[in-house]
Amino acid sequence: MTTSAPMTDLMGGQPLTIRPIFDRMRTIYADGEVVDATGRTTYGELSERVLRIVTVLRELGVKPGDRVATFANNSARHLELYYAIPLAGAVLHMVNIRLYAEQIEYVVQHAGDVVLVADDDLLPAVENLTEQCPDLRLVMTMSELAGKAAVAAPTTDLPELQEEWPSGICYTSGTTGMPKGVVYSHRSMYVHAMAACMADHLGLSEHDRVLPVVPLFHACGWGLPYAAPFTGAELVFAGADTSPANLARIIREERITFAGGVPTIWTQLLPLAKSGEADVSSLRALMVGGAATPRPLMEEWDALGVPILQLWGMTETAPLACASRPRRRHKDLDEEARREVRLKTGTIFAGLEARIVGDDGVELPWDGESVGELECRGPWVATAYYDDDALSSEKFRDGWLRTGDMAFMEPDGYFKIVDRSKDLVKSGGEWISSLDLEAAVMAHPRVCEAAVVGVRSVRWDERPVVVVVPEGEPPTVAELHEFLTGRVAKWWFPDDIVVVDEIPKTSVGKYDKKVMRTMLADRVLP
Ligand code: ADP
Repeated sequence: MTTSAPMTDLMGGQPLTIRPIFDRMRTIYADGEVVDATGRTTYGELSERVLRIVTVLRELGVKPGDRVATFANNSARHLELYYAIPLAGAVLHMVNIRLYAEQIEYVVQHAGDVVLVADDDLLPAVENLTEQCPDLRLVMTMSELAGKAAVAAPTTDLPELQEEWPSGICYTSGTTGMPKGVVYSHRSMYVHAMAACMADHLGLSEHDRVLPVVPLFHACGWGLPYAAPFTGAELVFAGADTSPANLARIIREERITFAGGVPTIWTQLLPLAKSGEADVSSLRALMVGGAATPRPLMEEWDALGVPILQLWGMTETAPLACASRPRRRHKDLDEEARREVRLKTGTIFAGLEARIVGDDGVELPWDGESVGELECRGPWVATAYYDDDALSSEKFRDGWLRTGDMAFMEPDGYFKIVDRSKDLVKSGGEWISSLDLEAAVMAHPRVCEAAVVGVRSVRWDERPVVVVVPEGEPPTVAELHEFLTGRVAKWWFPDDIVVVDEIPKTSVGKYDKKVMRTMLADRVLP
């Protein structure tokens, strides 16, 4: 018979919710600044407004579990709603303002939003939604809400939030189909924020000033609205004007240390940074995600002394899940070889698991060459889509998310995404990575941007064609082939070049290959 008392867990059982992040922002970091296109405020003042907005939401009849939508650019007011809605126990639906009208109607209706708050200037796009969406009772502007909040009392009785309560819903941007709803829990947002801040992940601190160029409506603003205030890092928002000139001004005037966005944003800023018009000396890093970082982009920013930190994630992974930080074994590599490492995708974040799976569903070895579909799982990875069983059974298996990204894994778990499975070009039974081929084409001095898509071929099934934005006179097909010799295998050489003024982009600034495939749908190559 044992004489010792039975042992139970003696640690605090506080639920992991957005509340402790908010409390820390409101008290410990009250003096932290938040800057947007309209002016400056502090985390302390902003928190006070959050508590008033909770009161207003309740007066409007919003109850725990209700969905409240935002339709807005990045601003302090949008950030307030990132807190007020989940703190009221409701669910924040960050609607992508760049969706088509039918898609907006679809997501608002599908999520069952009861209230929608829009930027004043965006109201025309949503003011009639109450007629189309039966659950939607009210569409109001940010100014109306602020007006009501100004005369409301700050709430003193926030609900006891449970960690498994839904805190937000974000729809995928629809790069590969209709938007799909991903429901975040309080717990997932809390652990995601903790993980994001780890030194080998983002490594944020109170001394940082963060500029999320990534919209707050895209994949939860990369979780920065929670991760930054959790560490005390300050937040600066550009609003609707994400032009290179405005970003350059903000980075210079606000002494930004960390800025995050899709590759095209940093491609467009590069000329100003190179000419010295943009002072980027305050930047510790540029966070690049949403699409693979092109090699020339990393080389050019490296030359300016601003390292690119490549991040991988999906709406389904809340969204940050991987960073391309070199590992211990890379420490003696020279700069060029380290860049090679940084151009791969990286190591899955601590807290998540990743694996590579073959067509037959069997896990592939971590041998640095076997390519299969990347799958991942963990406390901030979705296990299903909201109210969509058919798609859920396609994209999830045994609790794992099937990412649709094809990758290989090195023996220590450092992986590289070679392509989206839908974007691989299948030529004569062999795969061509559109990403690698694009990177090689973009290295050409007269190519500014390049996107590779597969075009139907009688003999090979599919052949790569490259859509190019030239810098000056575009290279001919023969010149391009000559340039690519020694850079990629000969059978990868694109069969044709299509010159355009601008590459079609998705609502979040990624190359829209769906549009390009449609553009080239009538073409048949020999
Ligand atoms: P959507 O699926 O609608 O484009 P997401 O933002 O969720 O919206 O996109 C996630 C996808 O973006 C990933 O599955 C991957 O294909 C791509 N992606 C994101 N980051 C990277 C990266 N660093 N390298 C390569 N691909 C990336």
